[in-house]
Amino acid sequence: MLPRYRPSYNNRQIWELKPITVIITRMKIVLFATLLLTSLCHAEGLPDLGDISQDAISPQQERQIGEQSMLQIRADKSYLDDAEIADYLNTLGGTLVFNSSEPGQAFEFFAINDNAINAFAMPGGYIGVNSGLILTTQSESELAAVLSHEISHVTQHHLARMVSGQKFDSLASLAVIAAAILSARSNPDAAMAGIISVQAGGIQRQLNFTRLHEQEADRIGIGILQKSGFDVRAMPMFFERLQNATRLLEGNTPPYLRTHPLTNDRIADMANRAQQIPYHPVSSSLTYYLVRAKLLYMQKSPAEAMSYFKSALGKDKRGNQTAQRYGLVLSLLRNNDIPRATKEFLSLNKLVASNPMITRLAGQLLRANSQAQKNPEQSAIDFYRNTTLNFPQHRALIYDYTDVLLQFKRHQEAATLLNQQVITYPDDPRLYELQARNYAALGKPQEEHHALAYNYLLRGNLRGGIEQLELAKQAGNDFHELSTIETELRQFREIAAAQEKKR
Ligand SMILES: [Zn+2]
Repeated sequence: MLPRYRPSYNNRQIWELKPITVIITRMKIVLFATLLLTSLCHAEGLPDLGDISQDAISPQQERQIGEQSMLQIRADKSYLDDAEIADYLNTLGGTLVFNSSEPGQAFEFFAINDNAINAFAMPGGYIGVNSGLILTTQSESELAAVLSHEISHVTQHHLARMVSGQKFDSLASLAVIAAAILSARSNPDAAMAGIISVQAGGIQRQLNFTRLHEQEADRIGIGILQKSGFDVRAMPMFFERLQNATRLLEGNTPPYLRTHPLTNDRIADMANRAQQIPYHPVSSSLTYYLVRAKLLYMQKSPAEAMSYFKSALGKDKRGNQTAQRYGLVLSLLRNNDIPRATKEFLSLNKLVASNPMITRLAGQLLRANSQAQKNPEQSAIDFYRNTTLNFPQHRALIYDYTDVLLQFKRHQEAATLLNQQVITYPDDPRLYELQARNYAALGKPQEEHHALAYNYLLRGNLRGGIEQLELAKQAGNDFHELSTIETELRQFREIAAAQEKKR
């Protein structure tokens, strides 16, 4: 088993070495606050930050720029907040990172709900992929090729090199760069505008990766693909298809090609390199097809989704049939057609040995069919107890399990499960949301508001987070918890004041 790379706001070792208690999470959030504070101070250009105008940006500074941008991205409605899609991207990305020159670096892969074909790397290892790009790929190797290319931009510090080459006179410019990168995700022209406004400082170069950077990312990316066991030919194939599609679009260049200039030479280079590596066929994983089906299902209206998947399963039998049936069952469930969803699911389940996304769908159907069971509570609890043991890293199953525990008022069990999970995934806002619901049911308003505050803060909603901390403070009588809340409140208020000043 390859290690799974989990997103992290700061050095994981700091809190992984401490004894396992919920306090760790609390401490982590305090650390998170401090970090957020320092990165905002950096943006203000305060004096204790060191001068980066001459030398390269340090990995810590890169991480801070990335983190700052991620807070804005997570608060944006285009951020695709789906644990199954995020877990898939992080598993695939984690395998590639493991085979890169920086196997120990923390990376975070995430999806953006946007039809434009784009993928982008931010300093510090944050890599975003538009749903449009995932749906344009025709194999898992093609998706892996794009991710490998982006990973290489990060491991080669291309963004940092670009930025530090500009002789920025203060870190203030870095914040603009971060904002520019952010807006570049679907609108590269806005990114350019951001850069142009910094040009008062005499910056001539553009945010676009240079041809040299592109060639380096291709070369290193192909190496990562090969080492990870994917089909290296997928890289020239995908880029060639993208280029051909662009010719047809006339003037409507996908954002990806504007930030990663593509030339015939580049494609020829990639093809040459790929040809030197012995060919071996690689099939895409079932999860790759399921993620694509889920993205299509999410993009379409209920009626559109139904007819799309029905027709794909019809006479022509388009695409991966297991995944198309999965899409159909999802659509039937959304339309509340439980009998047909159950029937379709049974023929789907016959074909699949063991897959967490299919298992999760089985759980959703089990719950939808609860009136048919003698003891719905026991059936659901048994199901989730077993499946979360079989797929302990599939967060969507954990959310559903918690939901069932809350539904049947098993609040102590829910508390134990959630406390374990926040230690494994301290940056997951949904866990705090569930924790807040559980505390509310237990009549613990202080803990409820405290958990809600973390949920808001992790989603990039600073104002909402402060409001919840204030409510937690008013509701409180636990001395220890109160002092934590007060510390956090002070820190986040400082951040808010710094932001206000910046405006
Ligand atoms: Zn590139």
